[in-house]
Amino acid sequence: MANLRSEAAAVAKAAQPGGEPILELRQVVKQFGGLKAVDGVDLTVRPGELRCLIGPNGAGKSTVFKLIMGIYAPTQGQIWFRGQDITRLNTWRRARMGIGIKMQVPGVYGELTLRENMRIAIQNFVKGKEIETEIDRLLSFVGIDKLGNPQVGNLSHGQQQWLEIAMALAAKPSILLLDEPAAGMGPEETEFTAELVKQLNASGVTILFIDHDMEFVRRIAQSVSVLHYGKPFAEGTLEEIEANEEVVRIYLGKV
Ligand code: ADP
Ligand code: MG
Repeated sequence: MANLRSEAAAVAKAAQPGGEPILELRQVVKQFGGLKAVDGVDLTVRPGELRCLIGPNGAGKSTVFKLIMGIYAPTQGQIWFRGQDITRLNTWRRARMGIGIKMQVPGVYGELTLRENMRIAIQNFVKGKEIETEIDRLLSFVGIDKLGNPQVGNLSHGQQQWLEIAMALAAKPSILLLDEPAAGMGPEETEFTAELVKQLNASGVTILFIDHDMEFVRRIAQSVSVLHYGKPFAEGTLEEIEANEEVVRIYLGKV
């Protein structure tokens, strides 16, 4: 009960960005052999934020997300979540604590049906009859509740992305990492995805997302962090980032 109350309080507090950091990366390094994919990243995210991470291809953005989720262990540095050092916790524990991810490469099961995919994501968090109700709620939230129960391999690219977001939401994350959620989508699908992300944030979920499409970023991001060669390069509002000549030179100029 106490837990539920503090969850509710945390969500209420998250409605307005601010307060103690929900997530902190302290001098995080990830080395793959001779390559430092992430090279001393400091990042502070406060509850309720809707933050975008941008940077050239290979800058280390997806690796940062995998480090936050515990898919990779950092070579150096610490990761803190809600005032607790989670650097050594496994992915499962982090998911339980409220960190969710939609990865760049889709993690849906193409040979299974829509509802089978959802059941896999939900079964550890909801029990019994509630499972099907929760599946209905989440599929409706991401706008794919009217498709029947097709094999997921037959869904469009966009529908698979939304399914994956619904699967990530099954754990009721307080922070959601979205790695290029609108990549490969047409204008209408992109628009719908932008609304989805904004709605999630308005409902209290802190969001960190990666995207290349500056129009998409413009539509939703409150703040932007730029990564370059695995290092934090700049941080600010989108206007500040776009006015930053160095950022334009390394990144925006190429888009
Ligand atoms: P971004 O998402 O910014 O495009 P990534 O985080 O995917 O960049 O990759 C950063 C760098 O790390 C790239 O040079 C990439 O090839 C390398 N890299 C990523 N994952 C691995 C891995 N598992 N093993 C070896 N190198 C990797
Ligand atoms: Mg990437």
